[in-house]
Amino acid sequence: MLRPYFLTKTFDLMLLIYLKPTRERPVVNGHPWIFSGAIERVDGDDQQVGVADVFDSKKNWLARGLYNAKSQLRIRLLTWQKEDIDQSFFARRLSQALAFRAEQLTGATNAYRLCNGEGDFLPGLIVDRYADFYVCQFFTAGMELFKAEIVAALAELTSATGIFERSEGRVREEEGIASSTGVLAGEAPPDSIQIEEHGNKFFVDVQRGQKTGFFLDQRDSRAFLAALARDRTVLNCFSYSGGFSVYAFAAGAKEVVTFDSSHPALELAEKNLALNGFADRPGELIKGDAFAYLKEIEQKFDVIVLDPPSLAHRRADIDAATGGYKFLNLHALRHLNPGGMLLTFSCSQHLSADLFQKVVFGAAVDAGKKVTIVRRLGHSIDHPVSLHHPEGDYLKGLALRVID
Ligand code: SAH
Repeated sequence: MLRPYFLTKTFDLMLLIYLKPTRERPVVNGHPWIFSGAIERVDGDDQQVGVADVFDSKKNWLARGLYNAKSQLRIRLLTWQKEDIDQSFFARRLSQALAFRAEQLTGATNAYRLCNGEGDFLPGLIVDRYADFYVCQFFTAGMELFKAEIVAALAELTSATGIFERSEGRVREEEGIASSTGVLAGEAPPDSIQIEEHGNKFFVDVQRGQKTGFFLDQRDSRAFLAALARDRTVLNCFSYSGGFSVYAFAAGAKEVVTFDSSHPALELAEKNLALNGFADRPGELIKGDAFAYLKEIEQKFDVIVLDPPSLAHRRADIDAATGGYKFLNLHALRHLNPGGMLLTFSCSQHLSADLFQKVVFGAAVDAGKKVTIVRRLGHSIDHPVSLHHPEGDYLKGLALRVID
């Protein structure tokens, strides 16, 4: 039996937040975010982090959430019902999330996102499962307050061998809290955890890997690639630990080039190819800058996967990001054999699907290619997006076929 390190506390501190006139509509409609500009008045210690009840300007109760004075995004709403925010609240939400994944995914994989923040009505909380280990990211000061309750709820719901934390990054900085990583409950994860996805095996390094260790959101697109990789030459650009490469070889690809700028990522990719018996298959693992590589290489491929990291972290970065996406797609299209396919992605939350498609269109025009959209690609079903929070729909992909 796994024992969390914390004692459960109760939170009876409650802030009362009154919105400015006419600012209640998004809250009533279920959007989980309230920015500082919508708030008229705070009753209570407005410098504390805590549970807050939100009212319209006429003092009608609207919703309940977590407040942090240090963030411009002041409140992230948890519920539109008058329910206590305690361990059983988190257990209810997490068990709903878990039930859906268990029903939909356990036949295909033992690694999935158990909780996708706003998409599971738990803004600020990510939980990923890797076989018997769970990795949490508490992105906000509010969620951080409930770490003990959340870990206890997870320990009860799952048969986890260990629960690990990777709470890092920009959102925590904006929330005014430092990074926090380490064991939350149970055993420390090994250096690499072995997971299985659609019959393919992967090593995941949850302690040092990127994000929580693996890009679970690309599972469906990896499966899509498998369907078209047989006898093809494939370039997996921005490969990380080689997810697309393993699927391509498993599907009978003729040659796969695995490209990334990160040495640890490529080391892991090499291990993953070997783990699946593909160490001697034709292809290379290449470390470098994909922008320079795509511009300079002469080789052409039948299929190219282009899955760069987010190029726009803030709204202000969109212009620069569109330039980057256009460059990558233009050069990728130039390196496709006739009839070739490009699987191109953007994981920038601030770049809409519409704008991404326009950028790729511009790239096709400049490359002098005629191109069709074969399929729109996106995150797998363990990354649900709240209909009330379209901002959560960050991953956009296009499967393109070059006609001539
Ligand atoms: N396709 C991967 C996930 C890609 S994440 C998967 O399915 O697992 C983005 C990757 O881009 C990271 O591994 C990062 O190391 C790499 N990267 C970032 N900047 C790069 C650059 N300029 N050139 C090549 N790779 C880069």
